Amino acid sequence: MKRLYDISLFYSAFYCIAFGLSMPVSAAEKEIRVLCTTFPIYQITRNIVLDQPHVKVELMLPAGLGCPHDYALSPQDFKKLERATVLVINGLGLEEFLDALLKKAGRDIPVLDSSEGIKEILFEKDESEPADKGRVSSHSIGANPHLFASPRMAARIARNIARGLAPIDPVAGDNYLANGDVYSAKLNHLADELSLLGKQLANTRLVTQHGVFDYLARDMGLEVVAEIQAHAGQEPSAAEILSMIRIAKEKKAGAVFTEPRYPEKIGRTIASEVGITAAVLDPVATGPLAAGREYYEEVMRKNMTTLKNTLGTK
Ligand SMILES: [Zn+2]
Repeated sequence: MKRLYDISLFYSAFYCIAFGLSMPVSAAEKEIRVLCTTFPIYQITRNIVLDQPHVKVELMLPAGLGCPHDYALSPQDFKKLERATVLVINGLGLEEFLDALLKKAGRDIPVLDSSEGIKEILFEKDESEPADKGRVSSHSIGANPHLFASPRMAARIARNIARGLAPIDPVAGDNYLANGDVYSAKLNHLADELSLLGKQLANTRLVTQHGVFDYLARDMGLEVVAEIQAHAGQEPSAAEILSMIRIAKEKKAGAVFTEPRYPEKIGRTIASEVGITAAVLDPVATGPLAAGREYYEEVMRKNMTTLKNTLGTK
């Protein structure tokens, strides 16, 4: 994997100055293509870059895909990678295809790992390794990669992306750092509102679809008592569903939260057996490609309303 701060291999394509004037080509006009693997990383990166005419922020995977667990790469993905200046990834093993992707890329490409250095990592529940043993780099050995679904962690990601892009595009580096400060402050403010809501909720125990809400729950002071898919992509067996119903009853769960792009049927069945509400909570793993820059915050505010309506307030 190429180190970020080596800019020697950047694309040398230059973009034309408006009005067709013949201007001397300088480093300042180098076109920068920032390729982001997943929708949430793409959205955060857009808020760091804002409007830089020489920078294009692109999304590699389909916007509606959701978590790319078990994703099979397409020829389009390689095409996008071919013209990228830098690849911004979620990290923590979410991109299980990363090694194959970089191997096939045919050139060394800088990778900006947006989770690098974040210390508050959770581990999958079937792993015994405690979180204080530090960051691990593979989903398969237990790191929960869904930082993006917690605004508190998304704020950390935003700062990482700003700091990572600054040396790659020094012309706009100060802008990225300033935008990173502004956007992470906004996300931290949103996280404060969610933490406050966590303290106001009448019931703080949830059943979720998969581990995507573990960081959000932790940062709001909520408890995930059961997950419908302990391993992403795997449907639970009948025995596992019965066990979840029992646990949800014993732990007095307040609601079952499914996610967009996942079938709701099992979640609804569990909720109805337990006698609680099922509702959709959106981790912003997916969204419309044409989403506005505020999309993440808008969805999180809708989630706040959903949490209030389903779990009640004291
Ligand atoms: Zn996931």
